[in-house]
Amino acid sequence: METRETKTCIVCGQSKEVGITVVTEFICLSCESEMVRTDAGDEKYPFFVRQLRQLWVKFHA
Ligand SMILES: [Zn+2]
Repeated sequence: METRETKTCIVCGQSKEVGITVVTEFICLSCESEMVRTDAGDEKYPFFVRQLRQLWVKFHA
């Protein structure tokens, strides 16, 4: 049986196996693809921006 490492997605907060790591933070595949589809007029957009801003704050701290 294969043991895979899971990481906690900074956007949805769930543990996922597949996704991208940006700087030191993990974004799962479903959130990443959702962000790509979300345009600036979408009601979800401010949520994604806020989550990603946390990432940049950490990065520049
Ligand atoms: Zn996610």
